[in-house]
Amino acid sequence: MILTLYPDMFNCSFSDSILKRAQENGLIEIRTKNIRDFAEGKRRNVDDTPFGGGAGMLMSPKPLHGAISWAKEQNPNSKVIYLSAQGKRFDQEKALKIAREQKDLILVTGHFEGIDERIVDSMVDEEISIGDFVLTGGEIPAMCIIDSVSRLLPNVINEKSTEQESYSEELFFQREYPQYTRPADFMGQKIPEVLLCGDHQKIEDWRMSHIKGLSQAEKRVFNWRLSNFPKKGRKVELRIFHRSDIDHWLKYLNDEEVCRFLTISPPFTHEIEEEFYLSSIKDLNIIPLSILDKKNSVPIGTLSLEITKTNPHCARLGICIFNKDYWNNGYGTDALKTAIDFVFNDADLKRVELMVFEDNKKAKHVYEKVGFKEVGLANKKTLKNGKFINTYIMELIKDE
Ligand code: SAM
Repeated sequence: MILTLYPDMFNCSFSDSILKRAQENGLIEIRTKNIRDFAEGKRRNVDDTPFGGGAGMLMSPKPLHGAISWAKEQNPNSKVIYLSAQGKRFDQEKALKIAREQKDLILVTGHFEGIDERIVDSMVDEEISIGDFVLTGGEIPAMCIIDSVSRLLPNVINEKSTEQESYSEELFFQREYPQYTRPADFMGQKIPEVLLCGDHQKIEDWRMSHIKGLSQAEKRVFNWRLSNFPKKGRKVELRIFHRSDIDHWLKYLNDEEVCRFLTISPPFTHEIEEEFYLSSIKDLNIIPLSILDKKNSVPIGTLSLEITKTNPHCARLGICIFNKDYWNNGYGTDALKTAIDFVFNDADLKRVELMVFEDNKKAKHVYEKVGFKEVGLANKKTLKNGKFINTYIMELIKDE
């Protein structure tokens, strides 16, 4: 349900193409209601001057209150979203989240200088912006949200076409590669030869190395993630994070003993872990790996390799075996060896470094066993639970 002062703006927006079909097939329903219908008086005013002065007018609380209450009565479980330049930035991830929730939405569109804040405080579940710029009204943002969410709903479009597209999980939330159609030669501009070769692997490799908007350094990490993982060791397998790993992290990470030697501390919520997952996957300086038990592919830990920004031949390693049943059984050692094999042999980097708390004697011993050398002790390096902790810096050099 869209609450707006200008319902006519929506007359043609959804009356063609995919969204028209989706409505005809009963997959989505788009309705509008004029906020002015809830205004009182002969002139049905919906705005007033802001308290404290300033330019422009604000939408008054009463008609908005009436409109939102009416929409809620129709559908008490729906979520109220106010489209606002001050809201949280909308992106593909948010569109996916809304599509997955499959909840009815009440989209409140503002005008003039915006709406009375008391409506936001008391009736709005979420404030969403479609970008860091200011439009004259919330109608176009509402259309953007309806369009991007609808195409992610089941059966609206062929699901295969949303699997590998800009900002999809499969492309690590990056942009798509260039695409071409007939004719192969258009006014002297030829398409890349490889697209005609019929070899699917070659075409896929070409596409993945032509993802738009990546720096050389980011391309390198992107290709490592795709070409080198999953990677098997003797007891473990290393693979890039999956969204499904979040549940495993939550199952184990809220244990103080598991986190004792990590820079992070409980409590961990689904929201925090999802944020961690997204930021790690999107950051193309990082190779975020889940350590799986090779026998059953269950996640038992994480291992990250972060390419140092000032030295592209160096990676910083961080590891955690969060499932305590796997402690002291050689799984951490095997994960380290497998990662080091990738770093020095597959990726041809020259140096790996890591940090370990001064009192984490067991881990330090494991790092030494696989070849790391202590190069210094950083005093008061980490602040954890209100206490400063000294941290060893260790390194492993390929040539040594
Ligand atoms: N005074 C407001 C400010 O500084 O943030 C801008 C108000 S704008 C002119 C009028 C209406 O347009 C807003 O109430 C909102 O509904 C909508 N709007 C403008 N820019 C938007 C954006 N980037 N995303 C979502 N809605 C936006």
